[in-house]
Amino acid sequence: MSDRADVTIIGAGVIGLAIAAQVARANRQVYVLEKNQSFGLETSSRQSGVIHAGIYYPQGSLKARLSVAGNRSLYELCPRYDIGCKRLGKLIVATEDEERDELEALLERGKSNGAEDLKLLSRRELKALEPNVEGVAAMLSPSSGIIDSHALMQYFIAKAVEGGAQIAYQSQVVGIEKAAEGYEVEVEDGEGRSSFITRVLINSAGLYSDKIAELAGIDIDGAGYRLHYGKGDYFSLKRRPSTRVSRLIYPVPPSDIAGVGIHITFDLEGRVRLGPDVEYVDSLYYTVDRREQKLFYESVRRLLPAIAYDDLEPEMAGIRPKLQEPGGEFRDFVIREESDKGLPAFINLIGIESPGLTAAPAIAEYVGGLIGKYL
Ligand SMILES: Cc1cc2nc3c(=O)[nH]c(=O)nc-3n(C[C@H](O)[C@H](O)[C@H](O)COP(=O)(O)OP(=O)(O)OC[C@H]3O[C@@H](n4cnc5c(N)ncnc54)[C@H](O)[C@@H]3O)c2cc1C
Repeated sequence: MSDRADVTIIGAGVIGLAIAAQVARANRQVYVLEKNQSFGLETSSRQSGVIHAGIYYPQGSLKARLSVAGNRSLYELCPRYDIGCKRLGKLIVATEDEERDELEALLERGKSNGAEDLKLLSRRELKALEPNVEGVAAMLSPSSGIIDSHALMQYFIAKAVEGGAQIAYQSQVVGIEKAAEGYEVEVEDGEGRSSFITRVLINSAGLYSDKIAELAGIDIDGAGYRLHYGKGDYFSLKRRPSTRVSRLIYPVPPSDIAGVGIHITFDLEGRVRLGPDVEYVDSLYYTVDRREQKLFYESVRRLLPAIAYDDLEPEMAGIRPKLQEPGGEFRDFVIREESDKGLPAFINLIGIESPGLTAAPAIAEYVGGLIGKYL
């Protein structure tokens, strides 16, 4: 690594890698610094792998706009670069009459966000599509699907490296100082501590992005950047003919909107998973508590009556970097160039929870726009 960079990206999760692929080009020194020994070992590999359609989020929010745009980009990229993905479609299922109004409200919200293909289904239409699923009505989202997130990250790496970017693993950012020509970044790696100057600095450090903002001198409580950890557990579901489904199956989301409700998803090999739930935790740990099996079983049994308690096995967990406090209001992604905090050409990406995977290509384009004038 030289002692000068044009763009430095902190974090090799799907967001940092998508940005590297977007901004790398000849005659531009782009670094990605990652504290772990490889890419995508944190939130980007502990998630559902769903390509969302942008249904749930308030109109005009970054979550809505960037997931709708990201959804389109991913379906273009996948066949072109041989990234595994399937447009399975998704059903949001009302199991009680009282949920019908909420389903209709979701349809209107999704359509106004640009998910124009949404359709309400009667109980009979739902049964025709998914005979094992029980509900009084449903909404079909044909453009929801699943993606191989590992292959997507590999594609971003290949594009970034082809453009000349360098990715340094086991390189943790431990200090940031404003300098005359940008930022002095202090890095700790196997050989000790060293520093270099970068013109543009991008914070895509996932669960640690608030700490990075703090390292750069931002008052994260004043700015509303402090993260909360929203742990989500998953259980695997044994496959049986009476519980077979062919689409992603979601409940009508709980009104606290901290998550979208325990749902049924697949990976590309057809393994079925239930989850994630949402539990605010104080530290980062990924064990799944077997005592939650009852909650998962009871939530999913409303949608899929034939499941048996013993069909469930604890599988894995992920942690959402949430700006929304427990019981608090909706919070959008923070994607900001921080000139107004005295930090020009410093870009924060904070609170990039779901639909961050879906939105990754669109987030990268958006960040490309924010930094253009500094390069
Ligand atoms: C349970 C769960 C389910 C989800 N399901 C979906 C879904 O189905 N669809 C969807 O679209 N989205 C989903 N998401 C959201 C999606 O996974 C995230 O938005 C996305 O993975 C965030 O990527 P990232 O690159 O910002 O973060 P990360 O993957 O966490 O990457 C950040 C990287 O920064 C590195 N880092 C941190 N600090 C430093 C430092 N000081 N120096 C160097 N490196 C550092 C970390 O090691 C890490 O590798 C889900 C999230 C969760 C938790």
